[in-house]
Amino acid sequence: MQRTQELFQQARELIPGGVNSPVRAFKGVGGTPIFFERGEGPYMWDADGKRYVDYVCSWGPLVAGHADPDIMKRVQETAAKGLSFGTPVEGEVDLARFLVNQIPSLEMARLVNSGTEATMSALRVARAHTGRNKIVKFQGNYHGHVDALLAQAGSGALTLGVPGCPGVPESVVADTIALPYNDAEAVEQCFNEHGDDIAALIVEPVAGNMNCVPPESGFLEKLREVTQQHGSLLIFDEVMTGFRVGPQGAQGRYGITPDLTCLGKVIGGGMPVGAFGGRRDVMEQLAPVGGVYQAGTLAGNPVTMAAGLATLEKITAPGAFEGLERTTAEIADGIKQRADAAGVPLAVNQAGSMFGLFFTDDAPVTRFEQVKDCDLEAFNRFFHAMLEEGVYLAPAAFEAGFVSLAHDETAVQETLDAAERAFARV
Ligand code: PMP
Repeated sequence: MQRTQELFQQARELIPGGVNSPVRAFKGVGGTPIFFERGEGPYMWDADGKRYVDYVCSWGPLVAGHADPDIMKRVQETAAKGLSFGTPVEGEVDLARFLVNQIPSLEMARLVNSGTEATMSALRVARAHTGRNKIVKFQGNYHGHVDALLAQAGSGALTLGVPGCPGVPESVVADTIALPYNDAEAVEQCFNEHGDDIAALIVEPVAGNMNCVPPESGFLEKLREVTQQHGSLLIFDEVMTGFRVGPQGAQGRYGITPDLTCLGKVIGGGMPVGAFGGRRDVMEQLAPVGGVYQAGTLAGNPVTMAAGLATLEKITAPGAFEGLERTTAEIADGIKQRADAAGVPLAVNQAGSMFGLFFTDDAPVTRFEQVKDCDLEAFNRFFHAMLEEGVYLAPAAFEAGFVSLAHDETAVQETLDAAERAFARV
């Protein structure tokens, strides 16, 4: 811990809170955030040389694990030819084609640099297309730090207990309506009242920022139905779920096609990225075809495109996703069994390669209120015990776990053995 602690001391002087993204700061779990310097397969090594099995995977993107040799080779070859040109490049066409072929709702896509940019731009084009202002979102869903979407947000905003956000004028969130996730009745009621003013409903089709909470049966169907009835656009924020809960995203898994989709994380394979896309008539509202302005200096840069494409080829290879889902089940079920054996109340959710651990006896966990009622102290004790054992879980009870193609039998067994010892100390 020595080097990590030195670095954190320096970081705190130079960077607010010592971190460039709040949830990294260990505020929820206590202690000092760990500085990492190297990854390989399912493992990463901290600045003091300690090895961990990683279930954060850079918060989702590393679906092929750390430093996969094939991906690194493609990135290095591309980088050797120049990092960015600020012009169109072939890689953009290849990645856009891949996404359009793979994600059911995409007829066209635009590439951006982060998930935040994707959701922000999707809202803008939805408002322009419908000529309406109101946006519906769900409590505990997180769509990046877009002003209008920070109301009752999940992830770091939830861990740090910021219900709204200072610096966001009330006028900016005046058109945002936040509803309870998985509550179809609340959605129906809201659209009965405001339907004609609602530009779009944005949802994480599997909630991954209030830990991992899959949609209840019929919930996504209801969202599709009411938005269609009222001429509002349905936006799936698949920044996290894209290529994580299925090779065609949550929309493929649950058979619901939204009007617009936001992507990020996996599609950049660990490089900064985002994308939004969907119906051609909506997407052609964007400049330079239409008047809705949206732009990016480094959008579609060749290195990100190479990392993204190489990663997507791995996860969509025949049988790859199915294998990953099986590994994830082995981990989730294995942890549950060890909790049961130790008499620790634990509920487990899984969707594709994402999983959620909830310290509660109130299973199944489907609502935000249940997530908030979990035993946070028990999670924190488990988190620190696992850390000592060399297993790196997300440092907050409201984050999902991510498994990669590189998590093999050895890594899984190490994790389950560690969990057995950790539960004894919870
Ligand atoms: N949407 C969802 C569902 C996310 O999980 C995230 C990030 N965790 C974002 C949007 C924002 O993406 P970024 O951090 O790349 O801006």
